[in-house]
Amino acid sequence: MNITLRFVIVIAVLLASACGLMDPRNKGKGINILPLSADKNFGKQADLQISSDLANYPLLDPNRYADVYAYVNKVRDNILNSGKVDYRSEFEWKIKIIHDDKTLNAFCTPGGYIYVYTGILKFLESEDQFAGVLAHEIGHADMRHSTRQITTMYGLTFVADVAQLILLGQTSPTISQLSTSLIGLKFSRNHETEADQRSVLYLCNTPYRASGAAGFFEKLEKQGQGGRTPEFLSTHPNPENRIEHFHNAALTMGCQGKSDFKEAYRVMLSKLPK
Ligand SMILES: [Zn+2]
Repeated sequence: MNITLRFVIVIAVLLASACGLMDPRNKGKGINILPLSADKNFGKQADLQISSDLANYPLLDPNRYADVYAYVNKVRDNILNSGKVDYRSEFEWKIKIIHDDKTLNAFCTPGGYIYVYTGILKFLESEDQFAGVLAHEIGHADMRHSTRQITTMYGLTFVADVAQLILLGQTSPTISQLSTSLIGLKFSRNHETEADQRSVLYLCNTPYRASGAAGFFEKLEKQGQGGRTPEFLSTHPNPENRIEHFHNAALTMGCQGKSDFKEAYRVMLSKLPK
C-alpha cells in the first residue's frame, strides 16, 4: 500500500474514532480507535474458536444442567437490568459454563461472550460474590479493555489497517489471529481497578451487596498463602488494596443492597456435577 493511501486511511479511521469520542458512553474510557463492531467481531470469532476446542473448554451441557444455566442467566440479567451497562443492547452477554473443577477462573471476550468455570462456581459461597465476579467480567467488555489494549500493543498504523478491514466488513487472517490473542489476555492493574469499580456500579442498583466481589478476593487471599496462584489472578492481576477499594466504592456510591442469597447459591451448587 502506498504511503499516501495509508495516510488517508489513518485519517479516515481517526475521524471515525473522533465521532466515537463524542458518544457519551466513551467518557473516561481512554482512546480506542477501533469501532464497536471490532469488539463484536473479535468476540464472535473467539467464541467460535473456544466452542470448537472441547478438549480445552469442555462445555457443561446446557440441556442436562438447564437449571444451572437459568440461574447464572438470572444473575446476569439482574446486572444487565441495572441500567448502568453501557453496551447492554449492543453486546451479546452470553454465558457458557466450562466443566472444569480444577480451574479457578472466569473470563469475557470483547463483545460480551462470558465463560465461567465450574471451578470458580464451586469456590464462591454466595450469589452476591458470583454477581460481583460476573459484573467484573461484564465490566471488562463494557469498558472495551481488550480493544483499547490492542491499540496500545500494536500501534496506530497497524490498528488503523485492522479498523479499515472491519469497517469494510472484510475478513482476514489478521483479525482471526488477533481474536485468538485476546483469549486469556492479561489485563493491566489499571484495567482491573476499572472493572472492579464497574462491578460495584452495576451491583449498586440491585438488591446485592455492591462489594460482593470483595468476598471472592478475600477468600483468594486467605487461600493464596503457600498455594499456587489461581488462574483468575494470572489474567486479572491484583491492584493495591483491592478489597478496601470495593468497600470504599460501595460507600462512596451510597449503595444500599445487603442481600447475599447464600441459600439460593447453595441450591444451584447442589445441582452441579459432583
Ligand atoms: Zn479482571
